[in-house]
This record gives sequence, structure tokens and C-alpha cells, in this order.
Amino acid sequence: MRVPVPEQDPKERINNFCEVSLGYTEQQAITEAKRCLQCEQPSCVERCPVKINIPKFIKNITKQNFDKALEVIMESNNLPGICGRVCPQEQQCESACRLAKRGEAINIGKLERFVADHCKKRLNTKIKKKKEKVAVIGSGPAGLTVAADLALLGYNVTIFEALHKPGGVLTYGIPEFRLPKEIVEKEIGNIKRLGVKIKTNVVIGKTLLLKELEENFDAVFIGVGAGLPYFMKIPGENLPGVYSANEFLTRINLMKAHEFPNSATPVKRGKKTLVIGGGNVAIDAARVARRLGSDVTVVYRRSVEEMPARLEEIIHARDEGVKFLMLTNPVRIIGKDYVECVECVQMMLGEEDDTGRRTPIPIEGTEFIIEADQVIVAIGQGPNPILIRSTDLELGEGRTILVDEKMQTSHEKVFAGGDITCGNATVIKAIADGKRAARAIDEYLRNKRYMLGNITKKNI
Ligand code: FAD
Ligand code: SF4
Repeated sequence: MRVPVPEQDPKERINNFCEVSLGYTEQQAITEAKRCLQCEQPSCVERCPVKINIPKFIKNITKQNFDKALEVIMESNNLPGICGRVCPQEQQCESACRLAKRGEAINIGKLERFVADHCKKRLNTKIKKKKEKVAVIGSGPAGLTVAADLALLGYNVTIFEALHKPGGVLTYGIPEFRLPKEIVEKEIGNIKRLGVKIKTNVVIGKTLLLKELEENFDAVFIGVGAGLPYFMKIPGENLPGVYSANEFLTRINLMKAHEFPNSATPVKRGKKTLVIGGGNVAIDAARVARRLGSDVTVVYRRSVEEMPARLEEIIHARDEGVKFLMLTNPVRIIGKDYVECVECVQMMLGEEDDTGRRTPIPIEGTEFIIEADQVIVAIGQGPNPILIRSTDLELGEGRTILVDEKMQTSHEKVFAGGDITCGNATVIKAIADGKRAARAIDEYLRNKRYMLGNITKKNI
């Protein structure tokens, strides 16, 4: 049987921002690791976007060789403590585990987390330097991965980040109780030790232009994410008391607004909060509002089965007292000077759309009113236009940056990856893009050296 992971009690945890999952002890991790069948053709690896050698790192846990286990993971992923906590393993490696059919897939995510947390081993920082310089725009998982992989190859890498702290969504979006910021800082610290420089408070497109980076660096990677929140475009959405989930979460995670007045930024503590949406962002916002003392309901236009949020997060939210109102869509936010209530309509599910999910259809005459003094909109995010508007880069669907299979944009020396190239995705998809881009940038720079006649057998 799967070894259960200890967790903070829901009654206690809604009063704090400490991590909910407490992680395996050494003995629990070894017992869980010993269940792995060490398959010769491991289907779990096939489903891992960065192809971690899962049976090999698990085998090393059984041998209590945790440093070696970390080394195996780090061959494919520089952010193991982060991925062990936030990757949707139940849809990836764990769903493909041979034991999944019996509902007992190996808890690969929690084992990855255990290794990252218990290991003292550091990355090799004795790297032979190359002369080329690479600029990375954005310090989310895509940017951090490109930077780490290129630094390991000897390139001089500088990351430019718009916010005052690096990490992207890992820092400003995902709450402390799911991903402690000391874990993010530790893994960014490892990358900095490779020699990567991080310049914060630099908005490319305003403070500096992409053109200037192209002139001053040998290659550029864009990993600026998709941080622009979408709204429902319904009456009343501009009323005070309506937040985008992005703003609400940033106030808490980055600006520590829950500690106000001991922090500079305040946040509204609603008595009755409606969170609109069904993804990870909606569930994070709902669980934060709950910790601020609010009565919280998640309103979603499809049913629970269609919710894109991770199952583990939905269960945690439910256990913390978050309510769910499914097959419901807001049509109007009502209030004089402030949000007072929301008019909603009941929905039914029609035919499947292009994404394979059934289309929600409003049922005429089923409108009803729900009281609320706070509404948090979490219906999706798209690319922020600041950088895009300042360039002539070719764009794809949804104003994402168009890239080829090597993550190269329409500008020869500019590469891109992560959410800016595909809209909202996952941390591990951003990491996989970062890895692919780092390989392509290395190949591009080696070819350039060759063309310039500077290549020898030593530096090929
Ligand atoms: P980001 O993480 O968005 O980082 C982009 C960085 O670029 C930011 O730091 C930004 O400030 C910076 N930037 C933007 N514009 C500029 C500019 N012009 N100049 C300089 N810097 C700039 N995925 C999961 O796998 N599991 C989860 O549990 C999960 N939960 C999530 C919860 C929330 C609240 C959110 C918002 C997303 C969640 N995701 C989750 C999705 C995941 O976080 C993203 O897919 C991932 O972070 C994308 O990585 P990225 O590197 O492309 O961009
Ligand atoms: Fe172990 Fe499951 Fe992977 Fe087989 S598929 S190697 S049992 S984790």
C-alpha cells in the first residue's frame, strides 16, 4: 500500500500559511521507494516531460544514497524541491506507473521532494567558462532552467526580472502553504552559485529594449510567462471588492499583505468571498481567502470532473471548508459603492469542444443571487503585452510568441519558452522548454563560433 504523507490538520492549517504537506520521513521514504518494481521499460519515465530516470533515483533512496538520488534527478531537472511539490504527477509519471491500475502508483512526487529536502549535495560549480554572453528575460521556471543549463555549459548568463524578487509564479503566485518560499530561494541560490547573475526591477520593453539586449548579448531567451489576468467582461466587474486572482495572490505571496500593518501592502479580508474559476489559480485564491478568515465558495461553470485544478488541491480546499458551486456562471456583479452580491445562472454541459471538454450552456430562467462582499476572478491569464508591443517578433495564437521546434523566434538570436509561447501551462512544461532552448542556444552559439573560424577541437 502507498505510504500516506503526513499533513497539517485542516482545523489548524486554516489559521496559518505553513506548508500543508509535511513530507516523508527517511523511514517512510525508504518504505515507499521499496514498493517500486524497477520496471525494465519504465512507463513513468515516458510520461515525465523532462525524462527523469525515476527508477534509478528511487533505487538510490532504497540504498539510503540520497546524494546519488539527487544527482540522478538533477541530470534532468534543476528545481526538484519545487517540482516535487507542484507538478501534477497524478496526470504524468504517476498516472503511467505500473501500479496505478490498482490505485497504488508510487508516490514519485513526494519521493522527489524528500530527496531535494534531505540532500546536502550541491551542483558542480567548477565550470570552464566560455566567452559568449546570454541574456534571459524573466526568472520563472523557464528562465531559471535555461540560465542553469547554459551556466553549466560555461556561458555567462544574466537574468533580467521585472519584479523585485526572482522566481516568477513560484514566488508571486503559488502560496507559501503549497510551496514555501525558502525552497524557491534555496533552488534559485543553487543556480546563482553557478555564476548566473539576476538583475531585478528591470522591465524589458520599458527599462531596456529587446533590441539593446540583442546588440549586447550573443543570444537572448524570453521566458516572461503569461501574467495578464483575463476578466469575465460582465457588468459590475469594476466595483471595489473585485480582485483578479493574480493581484490577490501577489499581494499575499510577494508583498505579505496578510501581515499588514507590519507589511506595507494591505489586502481586503472579505466576509463572504466568491472565487470564479476551476484551475489551480482559483483553488489557491480560495484557500488564501479562507486563511484570511472568509467564508469562501468556488463558482465554476462546469462540473468537478472538468476542473483543471489538481485533485490533491481540490481535496485540501474542501477539507479546509471551501465550498464548491458547480455548473454555475456569474452574469452580473451588483453593488452601489462596493460588491454586495452576484447574479449567477445555472449551466448544463453540451457537446465536447476542441479541448475534449463538454461546453457549458446557460439554462434560461435559472438566474439567482448570491451574497458576497468580495469576488476573486480566476478564469485564466494571457501574455503581458509590455515586451511584445516593443518588438516586431512574430506572434502566434493568443498573442503568444511564435517559436519553432528549437524554441527559436523570428529573430535569429532570440529564443523563447514557457507560458509566453503557449499560454497557461505547467511548471514542468516551462522547465522542459527551458531545457530544449538551452540545447538550441548552445548549438546556435557553437555554429556561430564555427562560422567565425574560432572553433577548435577543444571548444567545439
Ligand atoms: P512565469 O513563472 O510566469 O515567470 C515569468 C517571469 O517573467 C515573472 O517573474 C515576470 O515578472 C517576468 N517578466 C514578465 N514580463 C517581463 C518583462 N517585460 N521584463 C522582465 N521580466 C518580465 N503549474 C504547475 O505545474 N503546478 C501548479 O500547482 C501550478 N499552480 C499555479 C498557481 C498559480 C496561482 C499560477 C498563476 C500558476 C500555476 N501554475 C502551476 C502554472 C505555472 O506556474 C506556470 O505555467 C509557470 O510558472 C510558467 O513559467 P514561466 O517561466 O513561463 O513564467
Ligand atoms: Fe517504479 Fe512505477 Fe516507474 Fe515501474 S512505472 S519503475 S513501479 S515508478
